[in-house]
Amino acid sequence: MNRLQNIIYVSGSGRSGSTLLERIIHSSQGVSALGEFHCLWRLEEADITCSCATPFKNDSFWQSILKKADIDATAIAELRALENRVCRTAFIASHQFNIESLRNSPEVQRFLAIQFRIFEAVADASGSAILVDSSKAGPRAWLMACHPMVRIIHLYRDPADVILSWRSAKFDPGMGQEMKRMSVAAAATDWWKVEYLAKRLGQATPVSRIDYGELCSSPESTLDRIFAKLSLTTEPVPAWIDANSVLSKDNYHSLNGNPDRFDKGPIHISKREADWSKVGSAEQFVIKAVAKILKLALPGNTTS
Ligand SMILES: [Zn+2]
Repeated sequence: MNRLQNIIYVSGSGRSGSTLLERIIHSSQGVSALGEFHCLWRLEEADITCSCATPFKNDSFWQSILKKADIDATAIAELRALENRVCRTAFIASHQFNIESLRNSPEVQRFLAIQFRIFEAVADASGSAILVDSSKAGPRAWLMACHPMVRIIHLYRDPADVILSWRSAKFDPGMGQEMKRMSVAAAATDWWKVEYLAKRLGQATPVSRIDYGELCSSPESTLDRIFAKLSLTTEPVPAWIDANSVLSKDNYHSLNGNPDRFDKGPIHISKREADWSKVGSAEQFVIKAVAKILKLALPGNTTS
């Protein structure tokens, strides 16, 4: 039986809190979060560790899903090739930022069709009608928005906090090493691109925007507001313990994301405050100046 009803796609810059958001939503019955799903074809198999702590090639959940969806190495290679062609800002621009035009592209249709075989297999195996894909990438939000089942959440985090976070070291137990540290320029470009694409997407189709600070300070009311806006077939009900914590649920097979995805037990929601002591005063000045310019450079933006 095909149970799939909706996919929630989370867009946003790196370090915007998408893993926290998807873990909260995943705590709901009838919802399964898949992490940064596009890593399935963007990363080498050996570089993927599922949040259940099993290396991808030994993960019985994912291996049975791929088998059920009839996805082999050839299909993964096709997804990778299609990604390189259509999941690009230049490709979205070549379709004049027009959803209808993208939807009519045979390559976009093929790209989505292969992925939906996997989504439907996950829904069947897990019994979850709603899946969460928190790949975050801006061009991917445009392609996913072409499918009628998909709802888009854009997670916004202040660029100064995002850039500072990229400049601070963080250990990733999945990779067994420190997460990469981006340069200020690369982090700024990454932030601007996804924000720009989300702004433009919001002019073409509904995009529900969540501010990371708001999510952390009042998670339940923020998510109630967002779920009401998403027009989902069934509204998720996270397993709240109290105002700032959620009971985590088993069967969490997230492909990638923040290392917090490996944590077991209750999920405590608190804002990660920017720690300016991690960078020198000259870099602090640069980050704050760049962040100010980024916010002003967004179309139609005068404030955050
Ligand atoms: Zn797993």
